[in-house]
Amino acid sequence: MPRIPEDELERLKREVPLERLCGRYGIGLKAHGKDLIGHCPFHEDRTPSFVVSVDKNLWNCLGACGCGGDVIELVRKREKVSFRRACEILREMLGAAPAAVTYRTRVGSEHPILVDPARETRTRNSWRSSPAFTTRASSIIRRRWPTCRVADAFTRRR
Ligand SMILES: [Zn+2]
Repeated sequence: MPRIPEDELERLKREVPLERLCGRYGIGLKAHGKDLIGHCPFHEDRTPSFVVSVDKNLWNCLGACGCGGDVIELVRKREKVSFRRACEILREMLGAAPAAVTYRTRVGSEHPILVDPARETRTRNSWRSSPAFTTRASSIIRRRWPTCRVADAFTRRR
C-alpha cells in the first residue's frame, strides 16, 4: 500500500478541528483561557485535565495518562485503530460530510445534531404552511439555540 503523502497528513491535521472531533467522541469542552478543557476519555478523570489547543489543533492530558497529540493520534487512540485507518476516518469526515451541525450548550460544550436532509425539508415546508406557528417556533428556536444552523434552516424565509 502506498504511503500517505506528507502534505495529505498535514492537511488532515490542519483541517479537522479537534473541537469537532471531541464533539463526535462525546468529550464536552469548556473555555479555559484561550484553550478548551474537558474530561479525559483515557483515564478516570474527576477534574477536567484534557486540554485542547485551538490554535495548534493539539490535545494533551495533564492528568494521569499524560498523553497527547494531534487529530490522527486522538482517532487512533479513541477508536483503537491503525494510523492508516485513523487517516481514512479523518479524510471521510473532511470529504463526504459538510461541517457537522452542532449546537453549543449553556456550559459551552458542543454536540452534533444529526439531520436527515429530506425530512428536514419536509418538516420545514409543513411549518411554513402555518405562518403563526412558524413565527412562534422560530422565535423559540432562536432563543434557545442562537447559533444553531438547523434553526437557520427552519426559520429561513422564502
Ligand atoms: Zn488522561
